[in-house]
Amino acid sequence: MSNPLLSVENLETSFHTSSGNVRAVRGVSFDLESGEVAGIVGESGSGKSVTSMSLMRLIAEPPGKVSATKLEFDGRDILRLSPAELRDVRGGGMSMIFQDPFSSLNPTMTLGNQVIEAILAHGNISKSEAKKKALQLFEDVRIPLPEIRMKQYPHQISGGQRQRVMIAMAFSTNPKLLIADEPTTALDVTVQAQIMSLMKDFQAKTGAAILLITHDLGVVAEMCDRVFVMYAGQIVEQGSVEQIFNTAQHPYTVGLLMSLPQLSETRHKRLQSIPGQPPDLAHLPTGCPFADRCEHAQDLCRQVEPGETDMGSGQKLRCHFPIELSV
Ligand code: ADP
Ligand code: MG
Repeated sequence: MSNPLLSVENLETSFHTSSGNVRAVRGVSFDLESGEVAGIVGESGSGKSVTSMSLMRLIAEPPGKVSATKLEFDGRDILRLSPAELRDVRGGGMSMIFQDPFSSLNPTMTLGNQVIEAILAHGNISKSEAKKKALQLFEDVRIPLPEIRMKQYPHQISGGQRQRVMIAMAFSTNPKLLIADEPTTALDVTVQAQIMSLMKDFQAKTGAAILLITHDLGVVAEMCDRVFVMYAGQIVEQGSVEQIFNTAQHPYTVGLLMSLPQLSETRHKRLQSIPGQPPDLAHLPTGCPFADRCEHAQDLCRQVEPGETDMGSGQKLRCHFPIELSV
């Protein structure tokens, strides 16, 4: 097989704070192939955003500190790029969409001009061509009355329309990888579904890889080929969508699945969320970070932190006592 598009090995990101060293990402390793759609799931605070921002080198250092034994995107060593090269990667190869499109858009500039600027900044084309391309993109993301919308400002359109503009901008540079950090969390359910299907269409059309961060396993089931389950800064389980939904073996993954209405109805009759809280990342316990909340935990779990075990066929997990999902 050719080299993966993105290769991450032992990514560690921490923050120096007054209450200690917050270890937000701890030894995260994964590969992403061209055109692959992978989801990162996990409760709030598990390190999903910090992971994605570390990949884009968007963590301010200090107070942050990012290291990895390997961080390669499209054959380039992301940790060793100059600021200019990084800008180039962000503008071309890797794009990012955030949860709140309002904060990512310039309030004083028309939507059309923002997209045109993004195109001009990263492509060698004339202003009139860029304008044509922007209009096409507004049509592609199905913004009604695109000519009129292009002349409007961010506050004049709805949150769903703003997220469409962000998607247009993200795809304007033909990225090889799109990182979307909870892109629809702020939107209502119907609009969420529309935005997701739009991303899926773009993905199919352009062949871009997507790293989709979400706390919604339903979205993952619909969109993704592969899943990374994060807990307390680690990927505690990873596998194909089929593996995660049918044969998850980490108690945390199973707990997440049981809090998904559809699955819990058929399998366990009622909705359960995982009791307890994740650990303080500045004062991590010895052993498995999930042990305190885990029904299956034994003495070993409180003494020794589990390393990553390869279960074969791409399924990997960090657990001393893997379980099987009873169907
Ligand atoms: P998620 O996206 O999974 O909800 P995050 O990646 O945003 O979680 O955060 C992971 C952990 O890192 C959290 O405990 C958060 O408080 C901490 N964190 C994130 N950014 C900073 C920062 N700038 N300074 C200190 N701690 C931070
Ligand atoms: Mg987040």
